[in-house]
Amino acid sequence: MPFAAFRTLRYFTFENLSREGVVHGVFTRRGGVSPRPWEGLNMGATVGDDWGRVQFNIRLAFEALGLSVGARFDAWLVHGRDAVVAHAPRPVTAPEPPPKADIILTANPEVTLIMRFADCVPVLLYDPHHHALALAHAGWKGTALGTAAAAVEAMTQAFGSRPEALYAAIGPSIGPDHYEVGPEVAAQIQDAFGSQADSLLSQRQGSIFLDLWTANRLHLQRAGVPAERIEVAEICTACHLEDWYSHRAEKGRTGRFGALLALPNAPRRTSHA
Ligand SMILES: [Zn+2]
Repeated sequence: MPFAAFRTLRYFTFENLSREGVVHGVFTRRGGVSPRPWEGLNMGATVGDDWGRVQFNIRLAFEALGLSVGARFDAWLVHGRDAVVAHAPRPVTAPEPPPKADIILTANPEVTLIMRFADCVPVLLYDPHHHALALAHAGWKGTALGTAAAAVEAMTQAFGSRPEALYAAIGPSIGPDHYEVGPEVAAQIQDAFGSQADSLLSQRQGSIFLDLWTANRLHLQRAGVPAERIEVAEICTACHLEDWYSHRAEKGRTGRFGALLALPNAPRRTSHA
C-alpha cells in the first residue's frame, strides 16, 4: 500500500501522481490533536471540533508534505458541480467565507488545494503539459451530477487541458460493500448512467448498494481520460475507521480527513523543524 508517514501522521499517495512529482497526500486520521469523536487529524471546522485544534491539524499536514500552510486554498463544499480557479492562496484570516464549489483548480505552484472528506469521493487531476491541477469532491449527488467530468471540463476551459493527457486519481471513500442507498438515489444514478447503471447498483438482501468508485471512474472516462491513467485507491472509509472518518459508519459524529494537492514545482519548506 502506498502510504507515507511523517511523525505520527500517515497519508495515502497515488503512484501515478507520485511518478509525476505531484505533491499530494490523502491524510488518515492518525496523529493530530483532536479528541473523540473527531479523534486524530480532523481538518473539518464545521463538525463541532475546536477551531484552534483544526488549524493545528491542518498545519501538521502541510508540514508533512513540506508545504507552507499559507499556500492553502479551500472551498465550501455544497455537493454541486461548480468549479473555482484558485489564482492565489486564500488566507485563513480572509473575511469572506470560502467560495462555494466542489471543484477547485490551479496552475499556480504557490497554491495548495485542500478539501475535506468523510465518505465522499476525492478526485485528483493533473495535467503535466499545462502544469495544472484539480481537486474535486463527489458524494452521491456529485456522482449523479457528474462532478468528476465537470472537473475535467473545467481544466480544459481554464488551462486548455486535453483530457487524454490528464492523470486522475480516486481517493479513499465509502466502498460498494458499505454504501447502501435508497431507491430515489438509485433512480438518479440510473438517469445519469443509463444502461451502465446496472454495473454500479447491486442488490443484496433487499437493499441497494452504489459503487461510487466505478461511477466516478466512468465519468472520467466519458470525459476523455484514458482508463490506464486513472488510479483508484480502492480503500473503503467505512471498513477502516482506524484510518479514516466515515460519516455513514460513525452515524454523523465524526471528523473530516484532508486531501492536499500541489504542483511538482511548489515551493517547499527547507526544513521540517
Ligand atoms: Zn467497506
